[in-house]
Amino acid sequence: MHGDDGFFEPEHEAFRAAVRQFIDREVTPHLDAWDEQRAIDRGTWLAAGKQGLLGLAVPEYLRGGGTADYRFRSVLCEELALAGAASLNSSFSLQDDVAIPYLLRLGTNEQRRRWLPSMCAGELIGAIAMTEPSAGSDLQAIRATARPDGGDWILNGAKTFITNGIQADLVIVVARSGDKGDSGPPPFGLFVVERGTPGFERGRKLRKIGLHAQDTAELSFTDVRVPAANVLGDPRQGFVYLMDNLPLERLSIAVTSLGAAQAALTWTVDYVKQRRAFGKPLAAQQNTQFAVAEMATEIDVTRTYVQTGIRAHTDGTLTAVDAAKAKWWATEMHKRVVDRCLQLFGGYGYMMEFPIARAYLDARVQTIYGGATEIMKVVIARDVLGKP
Ligand SMILES: Cc1cc2nc3c(=O)[nH]c(=O)nc-3n(C[C@H](O)[C@H](O)[C@H](O)COP(=O)(O)OP(=O)(O)OC[C@H]3O[C@@H](n4cnc5c(N)ncnc54)[C@H](O)[C@@H]3O)c2cc1C
Repeated sequence: MHGDDGFFEPEHEAFRAAVRQFIDREVTPHLDAWDEQRAIDRGTWLAAGKQGLLGLAVPEYLRGGGTADYRFRSVLCEELALAGAASLNSSFSLQDDVAIPYLLRLGTNEQRRRWLPSMCAGELIGAIAMTEPSAGSDLQAIRATARPDGGDWILNGAKTFITNGIQADLVIVVARSGDKGDSGPPPFGLFVVERGTPGFERGRKLRKIGLHAQDTAELSFTDVRVPAANVLGDPRQGFVYLMDNLPLERLSIAVTSLGAAQAALTWTVDYVKQRRAFGKPLAAQQNTQFAVAEMATEIDVTRTYVQTGIRAHTDGTLTAVDAAKAKWWATEMHKRVVDRCLQLFGGYGYMMEFPIARAYLDARVQTIYGGATEIMKVVIARDVLGKP
């Protein structure tokens, strides 16, 4: 039995073949250069758009892929993981699993027509700015403010750790839109700030231990005037919108971790078969065999759970609790597997020319962003225990 049995159908495999061609042509030759420049070329976004790899869930009349079947997205995540392209994977995921869904769900017809076709074409890159220097896990502590002014809103605040922050053409900014009442979360709004808007500044491109090619930045907003046409949904219901979208973001991180763990094991299996020590291949050592057996089991068990999540999302039944379970489990498993795989590579695993080295560095953030492991457990415990 293999976890993939019957999950993917011929149309997903045809898509996989097209994705592989794209990766051979547009991704693999550039990985080192992107790491050096700490950014992905915009041309890659355009090529992905041309090949129909962006905006998979966007209706066709808006130039998207027109499919709610999340298996296609997961094929792309798996293949990018296998290619060792974690930064691109996370940048594309931000576009497809985070920014676009907000516009699809909350956008008016006019907003959807204004932004989505160009996002699907890779001409517009999106970002979401929730995190602030003093508000990460605790989103209710967000301090950025938006105050109404005529029909517009005036936005002030500072955001940090924003994926695609430097390159983004539009940023969905989460800001407090009024005073907190006696109970419940404060009122938040989601405001789309476009490139070139006066008062919108980009700060440092942050140096990270991994995901070197993913641009992660600080952003600041000083008296930024946001027209009513750039407000998403009800400007007081932002917290509810965030809670609605976080399950998909978390599922996508779980899918990526699963793919990356499988990729690490695949590279390791090849390596231990050809690397010899004490007169025989490493694969002949019982320690290697047990490690590989344990990792293959962990990956297959995780795959089954993540695939249940993928089906649930496709059917519109993915819950916040199940997404939290998938996220913490798959990302912690990913971290363990990559660490063990690197050990089996010995000193070569520590050398950047081996993909396992980059994969080790890239893996570390998975248990942190999109809601840290501890926060996932808070969500699950609340469901299991109720309010003690
Ligand atoms: C590479 C990268 C890309 C990112 N991209 C984006 C992005 O595009 N947009 C965006 O808005 N944000 C982004 N983030 C931010 C990310 O989502 C936050 O870093 C994350 O939510 C954790 O917040 P924090 O860093 O403030 O940590 P903190 O909230 O300060 O947490 C620190 C530690 O305390 C633990 N902790 C906190 N509260 C509790 C609790 N109640 N119980 C138990 N433990 C707790 C946490 O789990 C963590 O281990 C990104 C971060 C990184 C590193």
